[in-house]
Amino acid sequence: MDGLRYQKGPPTVTIVMYHYVRDVEKTEYPGIHAVSFKRFNDHLALLKKLGYHFISLDHYYDHISKGVAIPQKSCVLTFDDGIRDHYTHVFPILKKEGIPGVFYPVTQPLTESIVPIVQKIHFILGKMSAVEFAREVNAFLKHDPSLFHEYEVHDHFKINPQKRFDDNLTANLKHNLARMPLVIKKKIVDSIFHAHFPDEHAFCDELYMDFEELKEMLEAGMTIGSQTHTHPFLSSLSSDKQEREIIQATSLLEKNLGIKIKHFCYPYGGYNKDTIGILRDHGYDTAMTIKLGVNQGPIDPLEIKRINCNDVDQLQE
Ligand SMILES: [Zn+2]
Repeated sequence: MDGLRYQKGPPTVTIVMYHYVRDVEKTEYPGIHAVSFKRFNDHLALLKKLGYHFISLDHYYDHISKGVAIPQKSCVLTFDDGIRDHYTHVFPILKKEGIPGVFYPVTQPLTESIVPIVQKIHFILGKMSAVEFAREVNAFLKHDPSLFHEYEVHDHFKINPQKRFDDNLTANLKHNLARMPLVIKKKIVDSIFHAHFPDEHAFCDELYMDFEELKEMLEAGMTIGSQTHTHPFLSSLSSDKQEREIIQATSLLEKNLGIKIKHFCYPYGGYNKDTIGILRDHGYDTAMTIKLGVNQGPIDPLEIKRINCNDVDQLQE
């Protein structure tokens, strides 16, 4: 991919986005597409070999806001959704290597033991094929012809070409579920999820890091940001609802971790002008999008670009 080739000029900041990092051989859910330990370690080795320097997000923000120097080829590692993989598998490696990572937990799993829909979908796909999942979603939608017309899951073409690493059916399934009205989506996803994972609370407590683990990571120099309370598609919400989602998560994290939360990550990469205004009003320094690219020169720190972890193998000298 051409955008990933190293560019001359001001320093470049390559920000990598990770989700699940686990023992792929042993996982019960191959469908969640985790990065294996070996691959994660290979990524770190490759980045170093290519001359990247790992910096903290605060260092990058100081560069953007005050012109503080950063290495010519800088790299920031980010980990979304507060999955316990990050504490168990990623944190020990980063600590050993002295690499500062950025972690974006969602707070509802921590305080209410409720699994956000995004992970419910991942784990349903870990239990059944996208074809079976799509069939169940379509069967539900058929009860209402207008819903079926609007959200039928098909594989004719990719509705959201941003989902580069999924086949047409999986990409459309995720995209249609993401944009569906919340009540309908919850009904469909919950009924399929609970058929496979009857004890949601226990599953949730196991899947996500808790405040103690986050604190330990903070004390070791990691950065903790925020990613809303329930992981909604923010741009589909009113400004008031967006603000509530953002503030609730921020205050829960600040209260339980005893720090000021300054970094945000847009769930599903979705945001609009309202979101940016809210973050600005509440004094956030940075926010991560899922817009693909390497950052270089002056940028809006509330619209930082990232690359997917699957892109790391494509990086060139
Ligand atoms: Zn997320």
